[in-house]
Amino acid sequence: MHLIESALKPEAAVARHCVDAGDYFLGEIKQGQIFRIVDLKGNQAADVLFYNAHDPSERYSAMDTIRAQANLYLGAGTRLLSNLNRPLLEIIADTCGRHDTLGGACATESNTVRYSLEKRCMHACRDSWMLAIAEHPEFNIRKRDITHNINFFMNVPVTHEGGLTFEDGISAPGKYVELKACMDIIMLISNCPQLNNPCNGYNPTPIEVIIWG
Ligand SMILES: [Zn+2]
Repeated sequence: MHLIESALKPEAAVARHCVDAGDYFLGEIKQGQIFRIVDLKGNQAADVLFYNAHDPSERYSAMDTIRAQANLYLGAGTRLLSNLNRPLLEIIADTCGRHDTLGGACATESNTVRYSLEKRCMHACRDSWMLAIAEHPEFNIRKRDITHNINFFMNVPVTHEGGLTFEDGISAPGKYVELKACMDIIMLISNCPQLNNPCNGYNPTPIEVIIWG
């Protein structure tokens, strides 16, 4: 685990957005811009997708990223690669130390299969992503572009036997991850509303997105 603090001051930011649990953030980040995602209350999961702003068919690829860094976990120094094997972003600071890209996002279907039929009507990350792209057709992101994602602050350790486990988070209030865009990108965040597993401590809370320069 490799923790790096940032020297950037929120007062110098060009934009700050608070995103409630169960809500989404959809916006463009220009090449060279730096942004921070802050876990305001701790133990929250931010489910995030990234795209090339000029061609959303180029998007974050978990398998290319994992293969290139030869590590399952994302953290400071990770370059997030696209499905064309090009760097979209780099993680330049991280005070949490654990971010997942294996566990996927919650959906009403997975909640039903994993937990019970009555969970079918509970709000899920996939709903927030679908709402975001429906409300903002100008980003030209389609249903087919909603693929595997990053769960910032989520703790999904892999066992010695290769099993995936969803564990209590190791994040805490004010922990953050900071990224620099290597090209013009679109960021789509679902701030997870999950209540059935400990990805957000059974208590979904807000995050903040802070953008500089
Ligand atoms: Zn979720």
